Amino acid sequence: MIYPWQQTLWHNWQQLLEQRRLHHAILLLAAKGSGRGVLARQLSKTVLCQNSDSEACDVCHSCKLFEAESHPDFHVIKPEQDGKQIGVDAVRQCNRWATETSHLNGQRVILIEQADALGEAGANAILKTLEEPPAGCQFILTAQSLDRLLPTIVSRCNKWRLNPPDEKNVKSWVESQLHQSIFLESVRLNNGAPLATLAFIESGLDIRYGNLVKAFTEFVQPPHIGIYDVAAMCSADGIVTLQLLSYLLVDSLKWQQGATEYLVHQESLAAVEAIATTIPTALLLEQVRNINNLHRQLAKHTGLNIELLVVEWLTGFIGQ
Ligand SMILES: [Zn+2]
Repeated sequence: MIYPWQQTLWHNWQQLLEQRRLHHAILLLAAKGSGRGVLARQLSKTVLCQNSDSEACDVCHSCKLFEAESHPDFHVIKPEQDGKQIGVDAVRQCNRWATETSHLNGQRVILIEQADALGEAGANAILKTLEEPPAGCQFILTAQSLDRLLPTIVSRCNKWRLNPPDEKNVKSWVESQLHQSIFLESVRLNNGAPLATLAFIESGLDIRYGNLVKAFTEFVQPPHIGIYDVAAMCSADGIVTLQLLSYLLVDSLKWQQGATEYLVHQESLAAVEAIATTIPTALLLEQVRNINNLHRQLAKHTGLNIELLVVEWLTGFIGQ
């Protein structure tokens, strides 16, 4: 399966596959929520297919094993947890897989997901194999962007960037999946990533976030009622809500500066305006910094009490 916004890139790969010119180490750069895992798997399945070079046939033994997630020549490594590094042991396992012979008398594919989570030691352990993999061994690496990838890894790969669709297309694609119209701000709150936007709405987070915006906007105005309700709403959905609230405050700052042409919040403009006209710029700036720090802190240390920390942050709005 390929998503509509992946077609162009996919056709490029298909051509290279037909001409047997696909590089042995493909690096796919794509945003979270753009379906990069799906695209990487489609490429893997196609490389492994026994009937066709450029389009997985879905009927051969290899395709069936792939769909059953039990293909013996398809290997995946990724961080055990989001935000964690890929362990060196996992990388060494890749090296062993690379030297194995194929179980199905065909190719082997090694997929490294979130390759930007390869630490220096892990990267060093795989460099040689990436540069000159044994015959019949295809590497596919995925990452969000080049920023956090080690240059030594990048230089050994053939880079491909999946361009995000424009937000109007994302909006109409999500609407076609859900058979309902959606807010443009749902797309923007998810950085324009189609699958992330879809999940945002399917999980009901869009509605809960709407309620949070309402409660938060009421709270920041005197007499500051509902601090514990706001904190409970934040903790119910975890740290993602802190990121969203940060966007709300940044929009309010933009509103204060008159930079209203690109606000994330399109349908919640009234809330942006209410916050912008209530809270002084200096305090808004400070609270954006604080919530971003809080977000980082909570992402790093999972054992912390989010509700308590959010209450502490919210207290910063009282008695301005
Ligand atoms: Zn097949």
